[in-house]
Amino acid sequence: MAQGIRDMIKDTAKVADLAKDAKDAALLNGVLMRTKEASNSAELVTYAPFTLFPTPVPKAVFQQALDVQTHYNSLVDRISQNTDFLKEALASTIEVDEFTSRLFKIHKQTLKEGISQSVVLGLNRSDYMLDGSSSLKQIEINTISASFGGLAAGLVGVHKHILKVAGRLEDSMAILDNNPAAGLARAISKAKELYGAERAVVLILVSDDEQNIYDQRCVELELMKLNVFTIRRTFEDVCARGSLDKEKRLIIDGLEVALVYFRNGYAPQQYKSQQDWDTRLMLERSRAIKCPDIATHLTGTKKVQQVLARPGVLERFFPNEPRVVEQIRATFAGLYTLDMGPEGDTIVAMALKDPEKYVLKPQREGGGNNIYGSEICKVLQEAKGSERMAYILMDKINSTPSHNYLLRQDSPLTVSNCLSELGIFGAYVRQGTEMVMNEQVGHLLRTKSSAHADGGVAAGVAVLDNPFLY
Ligand code: ADP
Ligand code: MG
Repeated sequence: MAQGIRDMIKDTAKVADLAKDAKDAALLNGVLMRTKEASNSAELVTYAPFTLFPTPVPKAVFQQALDVQTHYNSLVDRISQNTDFLKEALASTIEVDEFTSRLFKIHKQTLKEGISQSVVLGLNRSDYMLDGSSSLKQIEINTISASFGGLAAGLVGVHKHILKVAGRLEDSMAILDNNPAAGLARAISKAKELYGAERAVVLILVSDDEQNIYDQRCVELELMKLNVFTIRRTFEDVCARGSLDKEKRLIIDGLEVALVYFRNGYAPQQYKSQQDWDTRLMLERSRAIKCPDIATHLTGTKKVQQVLARPGVLERFFPNEPRVVEQIRATFAGLYTLDMGPEGDTIVAMALKDPEKYVLKPQREGGGNNIYGSEICKVLQEAKGSERMAYILMDKINSTPSHNYLLRQDSPLTVSNCLSELGIFGAYVRQGTEMVMNEQVGHLLRTKSSAHADGGVAAGVAVLDNPFLY
């Protein structure tokens, strides 16, 4: 059946009409985004970029990614509770990376004061590419603001529709149902219930110019179905009108906040002033449940990912579960330290010799920050003192490309050579030492032209997609 999809892509006579149908279907299914020009207004929206056709993905690797997700949830959760590990893993990074260092300071300060909330909510997305066509390799795990769990649901309807229009009813029925936002909302609701105050609300920490607002709104709608009330506030709002009472309850505009869900605050430029940093600290000190708490945010750094790939490290987190260790490790690509010393020196020499084989990654999120090819040599050769410690080096994953059409506002309809990245959403809730929820709640496929090394839908490179399992 995957061959059927490949044949359709070649049928250029039909593609223009299908693209028109697909764009309308996207609008009707709520696969929406605000435009750059009017990110503050609902008066001018467009479809979020997406592929005309779903992309064939082998069933076995898809299942492998689903199966390992609850273990990744446990791993992230266990790391976030291991202060000594985080401190050691991030020691070199925080010496040279200002952003990670500021996050770590908040972590240290709240630890000193004592953690005020024993309920932990983790919502993450583990992303993979295929090395060749069948070896699943993790690109990264996102522990803060993992997005597109909302819009992914709408795209199921779009691809089902397009396959039907194209006369492929049977293929259409093979597109998997998928609604990550419902699972994310279920976890938020569960955590909120454990917080205990019925009238308290969920605060979604947002930016004031969010193009991807409808993705967030999907989670809000799912929460409303569960009778969980949400408010949207920026750092500035919380700073101006939020405060902690004597019991460290977070109060804003007269409402008690049970849970803060961060959809902002993962990139340096999102902290516009010292005030925003003070606000992040206040949120962290509060009794509200934080999604993520600062330790879980730090667990999502590329440096922690690299340290985990060292021999023996996973075993520290799963001492009696060799099968789990094996399952997680099977998804690791080669990851290398650039810390100062002989090991780091060897890695630099290795990267300079074959830069095309690697990706150089700083501790940043959101796409567009990684360094590739000859640029790697330039950055490593020009790094002064211990500056190279801000990065890690990773094996470049070379997927087998496939053809598709990327539909994006004002872009011409041309066939592209494409690479895809599969994300699996994880959700867990812990109360004290007891995991009360640990689930895989859905998937996301993103596809980009192979002409781009880096990805990211929000960064304007990748587009939303669905896997077509074969
Ligand atoms: P970010 O936090 O910016 O999303 P990622 O690690 O996910 O950082 O990298 C961004 C993009 O760069 C990915 O979506 C992928 O397209 C590409 N990329 C990252 N790591 C690799 C790799 N090891 N091999 C090939 N491509 C990669
Ligand atoms: Mg990423």
